[in-house]
Amino acid sequence: MNTDTSGKSHWTRSLRFRLTFWYSGVLAALLLLASALLYGGVSHTLRAETDAFLTSEAQSIAASDPTEADDLVEAIAEKPGTSRSTPDGPLLFDVVYTRLVSPATKRSLAVSPNLNTHPALVAALDPLLTLPASESGQFSFAGPDEERQMRVLTTPMRLGKAGGWLQVAVPWDHNSDVLERLAVLLFLGVPTIILLAGTGGWVLVGRTLQPIGRIVAEAERLDADSFPEALLPQAAESDTEIGHLVTTLNRMTTRLRRAFDVQRKFAESQQRFAADASHELRTPLTILRGEMELALSRPREAAVYQATLASAIEEIDRMSRIVSGLGFLAREDAGEMSPAPFPQAVDLRRLCSVVFEELTAKAAHKKIDLGIVATDAVFVSGDPDQLHLLLRNLGDNALKYTHKGGSVTLALTPDAVVTVTDTGIGIAAADLPQVFDRFWRADRARTSEGSGLGLAISKRIAESHGGTLTVSSRERCGTTFTLTLPRIDPPKMGTTEVRK
Ligand code: ATP
Ligand code: MG
Repeated sequence: MNTDTSGKSHWTRSLRFRLTFWYSGVLAALLLLASALLYGGVSHTLRAETDAFLTSEAQSIAASDPTEADDLVEAIAEKPGTSRSTPDGPLLFDVVYTRLVSPATKRSLAVSPNLNTHPALVAALDPLLTLPASESGQFSFAGPDEERQMRVLTTPMRLGKAGGWLQVAVPWDHNSDVLERLAVLLFLGVPTIILLAGTGGWVLVGRTLQPIGRIVAEAERLDADSFPEALLPQAAESDTEIGHLVTTLNRMTTRLRRAFDVQRKFAESQQRFAADASHELRTPLTILRGEMELALSRPREAAVYQATLASAIEEIDRMSRIVSGLGFLAREDAGEMSPAPFPQAVDLRRLCSVVFEELTAKAAHKKIDLGIVATDAVFVSGDPDQLHLLLRNLGDNALKYTHKGGSVTLALTPDAVVTVTDTGIGIAAADLPQVFDRFWRADRARTSEGSGLGLAISKRIAESHGGTLTVSSRERCGTTFTLTLPRIDPPKMGTTEVRK
């Protein structure tokens, strides 16, 4: 329903009204045109047939080639109009009036018997004798009143050397009845048809436009918090224009909803980033400030300043790690709704070897037995840098939380499952659910280096690659992190063990 600027609705401006109005209007114009053509055609045909009949009647009288009026008296007297048929077929008219008139005296020379009894008709024929003479005769209407109208042919006729007027007439009442009835029929029929067609059109257009009304109602209820997956249930006639409209709008709604979700997710990740960053950076900044204030509180040895600056660099490094870790998570959060495909095939076997090599020195330093159990090449689709970061985090943790003399093993199966197992301090069963939370660190780990973001980032990377990262652990016995990724092109080869 249309609404003007004042908010008032105008049903006359509605599509339904306009469609019905134009449809009925065009139909009415066509029906009126057709009625006029029909009426004109019938009227013309009736007149033409009557005229042809009158002409043939006049010709049959003239055919006797009369020299005097008396020659025609008998012929005219024989035309009582009662004979119903001729050799050419049935007569058109029951009654034919015929008379021959002297042009000089305007007196009737011969009159058919049926005219004799109707002086009013004769009187009506008289004025026609003043019509301009024409060889083919003159057709006209005449009659004493509406009911007794006649179609008359007045034609000049040669009578030897003299001439005369021959008038042949037939009653027109039957034809005018036909025309009148046709006019009544059209007069009543056309508006009835228009009314019925208009009502039918109104109902049909209303039913056709019904889904649009529903779309408008649904669309008015939409807001960012209650955005449906689809605006309307798909119409049964999905191949109609309205069906296409519903399909298109539903697709648009789905796209909009996704865009909203991405937007919301993005806003949430930004908020979270800001909240996490301000919370986590406050402590190192306070420490930094405290150390510097202390150093500046009185003059000190150069060595003290150096130690303070070295400590400051450590804190700054820690803060950089937090900021870059949070930045990574915020980017991942924002991109979660539209994950980018990873076109690159990454060899997990190579990646494990690289991480193993990187950890070797640290393991040797802590006197930890580092080992690797791996198949030949196992491929996954992914980002090699992110997967490297993930494995490196797991390896670093294993070394960090394992005491001197313990062991750490990296293992890869042909199904693209990587496990990092250590014999370290383990994680309490109650803590296991939090292990992947941002900034969560077990109390005992607080003393050691770290921000508590490593595992959150690792889990995120696993998920964005369509995989999982799980943990199983027993306190004081050890921990196993299991990374499972969707494998591509898996070669089933024997495993090799490398121990260092
Ligand atoms: P960083 O962000 O530098 O990695 P972090 O190692 O403390 O710091 P995470 O890697 O996220 O942070 O680990 C979170 C916590 O989980 C650790 O602080 C530790 O308490 C516990 N943890 C992780 N890996 C192990 C492990 N292999 N054995 C025992 N505890 C672990
Ligand atoms: Mg860590």
